[in-house]
Amino acid sequence: MSDHGHPPLANMNGKIVPFGDAKISIMAPGLTFAVLAFEGLRAYWNDDEQQLFAFRVPEHMDRLDFSNAVIEIEGCPDAEKLTAEMLELAEACAFRQDIYIRMQTYVDEWGAMAATGPAGYSIVCRARGRVAAFHEGRHFGVSSWRRNEDDASPPRIKASANYLNSRLAGLEAKRNGYDAAVILNRDGSVSEGPGGCIFVMRGGQFITPPVTAGILESVTRRTLIEIAGDVGLEVIQRDIGRTELYLAEEAFYCGTGQELVPILSFERKPVGDGQPGPATLKLQDHYDAVVRGRVAAYRHWLTPVYANGDGT
Ligand code: PMP
Repeated sequence: MSDHGHPPLANMNGKIVPFGDAKISIMAPGLTFAVLAFEGLRAYWNDDEQQLFAFRVPEHMDRLDFSNAVIEIEGCPDAEKLTAEMLELAEACAFRQDIYIRMQTYVDEWGAMAATGPAGYSIVCRARGRVAAFHEGRHFGVSSWRRNEDDASPPRIKASANYLNSRLAGLEAKRNGYDAAVILNRDGSVSEGPGGCIFVMRGGQFITPPVTAGILESVTRRTLIEIAGDVGLEVIQRDIGRTELYLAEEAFYCGTGQELVPILSFERKPVGDGQPGPATLKLQDHYDAVVRGRVAAYRHWLTPVYANGDGT
């Protein structure tokens, strides 16, 4: 757990237990066949309001629902119940800092590969501040591993099975001296990184691959597309060719955990002048304001954790 902080508690199939007691069978299909869907959300501490705000909870719950539907994990609690249990756990953990929430649904007990139940689920919360890469930026390589396809192991859903592909790409990137990978799809255009989506700028306009390019339907990506216009930035969704990475004026990587990480180089070729770009910084600032509840128009994206609004 070293760099993750130790979650004090977990919700295990609806009961709050000490984190160390949250265990599953070593023969659960969720483990042996990766029949597991998950979600990662952030909640941001707001000191002025003494409140912890979870970001875009319904969107994450919807995605968990459709991940479960695609891989046929049946009998999970509905979004309303999971949301209530998630908020109850977050409240019980009593954090007064930014946190990360991980929710998993899986096929439990000793079952066959095609077993659709019994469903098990767990929720944990841990302290998690902003990643250092947010300010520092990171260097990316292009992986020789291709993205798993929608008709093989659909990247659109957040299923643990997809992370084998991400892991192979990530390991290769590290071996080659990069911080992370860009994974191309079978057509040779950009899909995403191991754990986040990619935006590149050309001609002053941000471009991000469409949801059919072999990407997770990312909540952060969607958020950025929705809010970019507020700060005068344009985003289009279209396929990105590999060589466009080398021609990008700016680029960043995004996801719930990473937020927005400036990409400083692709394959050791600097992006722009090799520093976080001005539009990327502007969008980072706006995203920060939105997730922290400073933009009235998007307050409906925030769900308070503490019932009393005074951090208790
Ligand atoms: N792509 C992949 C493969 C991811 O693991 C993540 C992180 N969940 C993302 C994209 C970003 O998704 P989100 O913005 O919903 O966190």
